[in-house]
Amino acid sequence: MNKGMTILYRVHNNLYVNLTNRCSSACVFCLRQNHDTVGDSDTLWLEHEPTYEEVIEAFKDFPSDSYDELVFCGYGEPTIRFDLIKDVAGYVKKNFGKKIRLNTNGQGNLINERNIEAEMEGLIDTVSISLNNPDPVKYQELVKSRFGVQAFDAMLSFAREAKKYVPNVVLSTVATTITKEEEERCAAICEELGVTYRIRAYES
Ligand code: SF4
Repeated sequence: MNKGMTILYRVHNNLYVNLTNRCSSACVFCLRQNHDTVGDSDTLWLEHEPTYEEVIEAFKDFPSDSYDELVFCGYGEPTIRFDLIKDVAGYVKKNFGKKIRLNTNGQGNLINERNIEAEMEGLIDTVSISLNNPDPVKYQELVKSRFGVQAFDAMLSFAREAKKYVPNVVLSTVATTITKEEEERCAAICEELGVTYRIRAYES
């Protein structure tokens, strides 16, 4: 495994933030199993988890007019470093005024052992949560959360609460990985939660 210190990297017109390689899930489809990287970086495996100072330093290589949106994503679950997300998001909002998105598995409350939704207010503009499957048992078979079957309900609860504090909340599944009938059930779940449903393109 090739390791480096890619903290920020570009994907299309956006700038992605890589804060950790740790994750509360072990998804059967995780890109990390077959690739060291995505976007323009050499590797997203980190030599160590970056500090606040290291993240802020990394922004010097990426002028704020060179990207549209800042996205917390990376090769791990960003909310494992939720306090750092808030600090970096605050810095970017104050200094660059950028739109900010959090891509997450939705297990942030379980990970942080507190409800974190309200703490995103004014910092995060979009939360994109991986729904993966409308069935709790199948969901757990796919994502293998260390929290077990409670992860599914926790993820939906996170989406419902996040809606109160974040302008855009999106639940997503990946095209071709579930049936049309399952996609319809996902759409119904999203309608009930009052959030957007998005079917993402499959990436091998
Ligand atoms: S939640 Fe994301 S980083 Fe974690 S195992 Fe699943 S796909 Fe990989």
